[in-house]
Amino acid sequence: MSTSAHSSTDVVRTGESVTDRLVEANRRYATEFADPGMDARPVLKVAVVACMDARIDLHAALGLELGDCHTIRNAGGVVTDDVIRSLTISQRALGTRSIVLVHHTGCGLESLTEGFRDELEQEVGQRPTWAVEAFRDVDQDVRQSMQRLRTSPFVPHTDDIRGFVFDVKTGLLREIDPAD
Ligand SMILES: [Zn+2]
Repeated sequence: MSTSAHSSTDVVRTGESVTDRLVEANRRYATEFADPGMDARPVLKVAVVACMDARIDLHAALGLELGDCHTIRNAGGVVTDDVIRSLTISQRALGTRSIVLVHHTGCGLESLTEGFRDELEQEVGQRPTWAVEAFRDVDQDVRQSMQRLRTSPFVPHTDDIRGFVFDVKTGLLREIDPAD
């Protein structure tokens, strides 16, 4: 799929690690970089919680510019305690007021079950404290995440929380009605 000069085969050929490649890219980036002189407070006062899926270019897909938003990503874009932690800091210390949730079609979590934890326990001898957050119905998963935010005592601003499913084939967002 990649048509750039930086394909995975290049990594193998040159013997560079992928991190070496990233560090090199950063050197080029920094030569063009000008300090935008921004405050840490997001310009649009919005926090976006999204899946870590590599196919979602969140800034491009939502028309976001540098400095516009907080971006919080994890496997599934689900609202975990650590997402609550980031959103609490985002709202209470850094002035955001809106939350946008972005889950997506074809998520890797759809092919997992909570049995993943059993397998882990058997393999490493320790049961993870965290839930896998596997799901079958992506719409319901978005609703559950919205509900977790609304019922969190730590997140003060819950009037503007909206949830979406990003279609990785079309690039379009589909909004989820929390009441359905
Ligand atoms: Zn995903």
